[in-house]
Amino acid sequence: MSKINPEFTNELKKFGAVNINACYNCGNCTAVCSLSTEDNSFPRMMLRASVLGLDTKIETSLDPWLCYYCGECSETCPREANPGELMMTLRRWLTAKYDWTGLSGLLYTSIPALIIGFILVAIAIIGVGYTMQFNVESIMEFGHDFEMFAIMGVFSLILVPNIIRMFWFTVLKEKIKVPLISYIKGVWDLILHMFTQKNALTCENNTFRWFEHFLIVIGYLLLLFTTVFLNWFETENTFVIWLGYIVGAIIFVFTFDFILSRIKKSKELSKFSHPSDWLFVIWLFLMGLSAFIVRIFIDTDLIDSNIWLYFVHLIILAQWALLIVPFGKWTHFLYRSFAMYFKKLEEDSK
Ligand code: SF4
Ligand code: SF4
Repeated sequence: MSKINPEFTNELKKFGAVNINACYNCGNCTAVCSLSTEDNSFPRMMLRASVLGLDTKIETSLDPWLCYYCGECSETCPREANPGELMMTLRRWLTAKYDWTGLSGLLYTSIPALIIGFILVAIAIIGVGYTMQFNVESIMEFGHDFEMFAIMGVFSLILVPNIIRMFWFTVLKEKIKVPLISYIKGVWDLILHMFTQKNALTCENNTFRWFEHFLIVIGYLLLLFTTVFLNWFETENTFVIWLGYIVGAIIFVFTFDFILSRIKKSKELSKFSHPSDWLFVIWLFLMGLSAFIVRIFIDTDLIDSNIWLYFVHLIILAQWALLIVPFGKWTHFLYRSFAMYFKKLEEDSK
């Protein structure tokens, strides 16, 4: 029998839930949601579990990751209980549950902790610059090495253990018996979901939003590849230089559109913005823009006299790599892809 946590709705409010106690279980949200099936009253079941304080049930569920926040359920809810935003809140809450360090929960629920984290990273980067006497070449070399070590460190120390914890909560703890062949067969689907997030197309009228997301994911991965493996800031190769310009521009143009939509609150999904939503889009925008301008300054021989610009870029990059990627909204991209994989394992076990 599941235990009831009477404080659960209060806990969810700290993660961004809005008005969930208003739900009177009418089922309109389930009727409009394209993910709802006969066996799964989606998203109403998650709402009931949340309101009743069944946190262990939610902890072992993959459902919050299946929702792509089209917002139709929130639009049709007669009580303005915002089921779409609740699903988003549950994704934040689950991110904090999977994270073994506890930092994700802290950064999601405490703005002072978030600000301190961002300031500490900025001070550390300026400190490194000071020890290098603000020499352009040494700092750029450091920046390049930092990217490599940050990627390896964050993946091996934070993200991989957290995915194993997610696997424990959602598959092992549930005692789901999966044939070995299903683990192998599902890998292709995992990769496909990771790069395309194709299930977002199951939501009606979502093709343009899906396309924007797709371009940002591809642009982001290419920018990472170009700066880390092709050493964009130091290369003389014309193809690599232009590739970096194009993917940098893709990132800042499309993320600017996301920022505008959050400011205007033009869509259901942008009506409620948690600080982590703002940080994600703004930092991604700043990263693309600052990388683009740094490369222009390199190409026009202005970087030596404007090393501060590279510093600004490096600070944004370090804050992104050390705080947003391992503990913030970036992880949703990874957990969602693994949720699709684990869901497939679950289906194969039946
Ligand atoms: S969230 Fe709204 S639409 Fe869904 S069951 Fe509750 S009251 Fe009805
Ligand atoms: S936001 Fe869309 S996909 Fe998510 S629960 Fe609501 S209707 Fe379903």
